[in-house]
Amino acid sequence: MTMVAVVGRPNVGKSTLFNRICRRRHALVDDLPGVTRDRITAQVSYEGKTFTLVDTGGFVSGDPERIAGETREQVLLALEEADAILFVSDAKTGVHPEDVTMADLLRRTEKPVFYVVNKVDGPEQEALAAEFYALGVDRVYAVSAAHGRGIHDLLEDLTAAMPEDEPPEEETEADAVIRVAVVGRPNVGKSTLVNQILGERRVIVSPTPGTTRDAVDTLFEKDGRRYLLIDTAGIRRKGRTYQKLEKLSIIKALGSIDRCHVAVVLLDALEGVTDQDLHIGGYVQERNRGCVIGLNKWDTLEKDPKAVRRLLDEVKGRFRFLPHAPILTFSALSGKRVAKLLPAVREVYEQYALRVGTGVVNRVLAEALERHEPPLVSGRRLKFYYATQASTRPPTFVLFCNDPERVHFSYARFLTNHFRESFGMDKTPVRLLFRPRT
Ligand code: GDP
Ligand code: GDP
Repeated sequence: MTMVAVVGRPNVGKSTLFNRICRRRHALVDDLPGVTRDRITAQVSYEGKTFTLVDTGGFVSGDPERIAGETREQVLLALEEADAILFVSDAKTGVHPEDVTMADLLRRTEKPVFYVVNKVDGPEQEALAAEFYALGVDRVYAVSAAHGRGIHDLLEDLTAAMPEDEPPEEETEADAVIRVAVVGRPNVGKSTLVNQILGERRVIVSPTPGTTRDAVDTLFEKDGRRYLLIDTAGIRRKGRTYQKLEKLSIIKALGSIDRCHVAVVLLDALEGVTDQDLHIGGYVQERNRGCVIGLNKWDTLEKDPKAVRRLLDEVKGRFRFLPHAPILTFSALSGKRVAKLLPAVREVYEQYALRVGTGVVNRVLAEALERHEPPLVSGRRLKFYYATQASTRPPTFVLFCNDPERVHFSYARFLTNHFRESFGMDKTPVRLLFRPRT
């Protein structure tokens, strides 16, 4: 998946632009109930092209003493990790010395950089935007993130060079390999866990074809199942950049999540759930990946049953947008209970890749309709005709009905839960798409 990073000084309007671009998306596809959280990443679909937008503004602390350095880090990281960059500046303040510094950094990259001048709310400000040609760039995009001006042109050019979305891949024999990503903040124990899993096992480490970054995946076998552990080199190598700014580590996780079937979201039991953990989990949910939540460093806890219960409740509560993710507790350091992890991953994957025959799907749909009649919407009865499983990974069902727009969130949730229960899919995300009968 193409990754686009939004960079720029504080207050130029990065997060406004981010929200503006994402809002467009919501009008287009909104099959799933969203997650309420302070977003810094989002998947955007624009005319058949889908990309991940990252608001790097969320990575900067706001401490005036550190802003210049952090913003510079942010640009360097974007250059390293992103496929394209939206560099935002502010027409109202004019060309700022820091804009010049950043533009100098950005000029050195081969990656496409879009120079966006924000807060051009009307024609009067166009002249202000023109000043930014002084940065020595070929094209300046004058936009108003707040009012939507110029956004269409920007998206048009941004997506022009991106590949068209591919239709969902068909399953092949090679897919019997379960792709697992271990993700989490720095120091939660990712490297320790990966080393514990691999142990003495004979492994084949291979650069992954088709990935632009220096990803190294590790293939191994366990109990007759093959697993591909994604990005192991990236985990083992300590990124110097990311240690300085812990929040930046999330951007590392995104690429790995995109390439996996099942993400192991690792938490530090002693520290509990942090916002960064939720951002990572949110991305797993958004990308519809299977998920296992690993509470690592279990050995560091006082085993007071009440405290343990409280912690587990906290994890369950804050990750309620991933209700299907099993929660495991272990110690990567001592190895205690780590042996439960792969079987849990395997179980999630098996549900994630499950296929149900059309006859069964329709029987279960009929059962659901009988148990809980679809509500009247504006005096009209919502009618379902037929359903089928369109794809797996995750299981995705298409339901044909008379008025897809009017399937209420709560009824969709009821149907989803009924499908989950009936098909034994309690450990995988399940998608329901509502379509008009053709
Ligand atoms: P960030 O720090 O770069 O993420 O900036 P924000 O998105 O938080 O915006 C900073 C301020 O600029 C806020 O007060 C916004 O309302 C304002 N702002 C953002 N976009 C526009 C715009 O297009 N026009 C105007 N006039 N103000 C804007
Ligand atoms: P990463 O940055 O997520 O890859 O984390 P590391 O694997 O480098 O671990 C960070 C620190 O936590 C190291 O000092 C590890 O020894 C320690 N650590 C990892 N797992 C555990 C655990 O299960 N228990 C304890 N007590 N420490 C752990």
